[in-house]
Amino acid sequence: MSSSERPVSDGCPGALTTHLAADGPLARVRLPGGVVLPDQLQVLARAADELGDGTLELTSRGNLQVRAVSDPEGFAGRLAEAGLLPSATHERVRNILASPLSGRLAGLTDVRGLVDELDTGLCARPDLAQLPGRTLFALDDGRGDLCGLEPDFGAYAQPDGSYAVLLAGRDSGVRVDRDRVVSTLLNCAEAFVELRQNEWRVAELDDGVNRIVDRLVLATGPALTLPEPLEVPPIGWLDQDDGLVALAAGLANGVMGARLAEFLAAIDRPVIMTPWRSLIVCDLDEEPAEQVVRVLAPMGLIFDAASPWIRVSACTGLPGCEKSRADVRTDLAAAVEARMTPRDERQHWSGCERRCGRPKGEVTDVIATGIGYRVS
Ligand code: SF4
Repeated sequence: MSSSERPVSDGCPGALTTHLAADGPLARVRLPGGVVLPDQLQVLARAADELGDGTLELTSRGNLQVRAVSDPEGFAGRLAEAGLLPSATHERVRNILASPLSGRLAGLTDVRGLVDELDTGLCARPDLAQLPGRTLFALDDGRGDLCGLEPDFGAYAQPDGSYAVLLAGRDSGVRVDRDRVVSTLLNCAEAFVELRQNEWRVAELDDGVNRIVDRLVLATGPALTLPEPLEVPPIGWLDQDDGLVALAAGLANGVMGARLAEFLAAIDRPVIMTPWRSLIVCDLDEEPAEQVVRVLAPMGLIFDAASPWIRVSACTGLPGCEKSRADVRTDLAAAVEARMTPRDERQHWSGCERRCGRPKGEVTDVIATGIGYRVS
């Protein structure tokens, strides 16, 4: 569907506005920076178990979603009590990525403070409630891990202390100091709201980057060529700069059972959901970190970067999506089990040509045809 033929609103689900999927209401919970605190994860695990299908799905924007929600109002109430719904009007547009290891390991700077500032500023501007739910903000701490995810509005830290302003997934040529990052991104988002008609992403707006820059009278210089999307996310034991340990783990099909989530919450450390549908448990001492690996690997956390699950992904498929021609996730699990997925290439399995959730970058498509799968 072209942008001119579709509705102004993109119908992206939220925690208050669920999407009626084939297997029931789907609720998506925004987690700016991917961060979920232990007590919040505990609430989400219980809610998924008692009101949903018993699992939490990681999304490509570092958010979590719950399927087949039996009581959407009760679900939203639990989230609100846990501080996961700070703004009813803006909840669907709080898609804010930050370099997941920022402030703990490598990177040029620590962007964690900017996440809170951006989230608060976003929710404080009434016009920005009109952004499409697909809008993506990103704060890259200079390591280049988020640039390839094509954020609508992004800031990419530079060695000289400035930030490159990214629009529609490319460098606009605008440079700002740290204290102007948030206001500049929010001003750009407001300009998009004013300029857009039915476009859901800045990249869909004709000459969008230049029109936003001109509208705000921003000075531009030469633009950078941005880093490519990550081939594989960080996985395994990571030594933080402060001597503590972060554990980065993948999940089969990007899905976490409620019981595993409860165990993660019980570790009592911040957990970060990444845009690669993996997660990072942060700030552990060495001994507890070893215990976490011992206890949680058998429950489904994948700490081995060589696991095939680190390179494969799938859309929802049957029974959650009525458009699907196959139960894609089950078929992918069978292929992984049978060691039929290649070790050295990324694959995305889809139930139809829309290829929802396909990662950025070089990926082989495996698409259900109704009588099997086609590889392209
Ligand atoms: S790719 Fe097709 S089958 Fe898969 S979730 Fe999207 S619409 Fe459904």
